[in-house]
Amino acid sequence: MAEIKTGDFVVPGDFLATTEEFVPSEGAYEESGKIYSSCTGVVLVDVRTKHISVFSRILGPPALKRGDMVVGRIEEVRDQSANVYIGVLRGREDRELPLPNMGTIHVSQVHTAYVKEMRHQFKPGDIVRAQVLNARREPVQLSTAGDDIGVIVAACSRCRTPLEREDSKLRCPECGNLEFRKLASDYRQGAL
Ligand SMILES: [Zn+2]
Repeated sequence: MAEIKTGDFVVPGDFLATTEEFVPSEGAYEESGKIYSSCTGVVLVDVRTKHISVFSRILGPPALKRGDMVVGRIEEVRDQSANVYIGVLRGREDRELPLPNMGTIHVSQVHTAYVKEMRHQFKPGDIVRAQVLNARREPVQLSTAGDDIGVIVAACSRCRTPLEREDSKLRCPECGNLEFRKLASDYRQGAL
């Protein structure tokens, strides 16, 4: 069985880990020493706190509107933009979003400062908190320009270990790899 990792998409009843390895957190439950997903969503494995949780994505509106905060996963990074799979509308984690679920962050909306290299801001698999700029476009236009928005969980692009913050950089505790992201100020503190 493949080991579950941050960013994996799961459905209710999917096996996540054993209780010897992890503690079930939001969106997960324990049964006979095994941890399963209680909802449909994206897995967050925190190797530091040993918590495993699932960001849920369940049925029912509301529609997105300008100013909403969403949490999603970076799917693709291009020169001018990054594509985001929107998983959760913050504050309404109990409701599924109406389709489309795809968002995009344009290079001009990544940071309050000028951004040259998109690949130093995001990588596929990163979990980001972003603000909706325009929900009437498809994909939805998002921004991470602000202290409280940006990447909240990122894994090493070499070995997939969750990266640890070191000032403005990220370092892999396993292989020592040094990486950069547009970070939210509360990177890996467990909040959506
Ligand atoms: Zn690594």
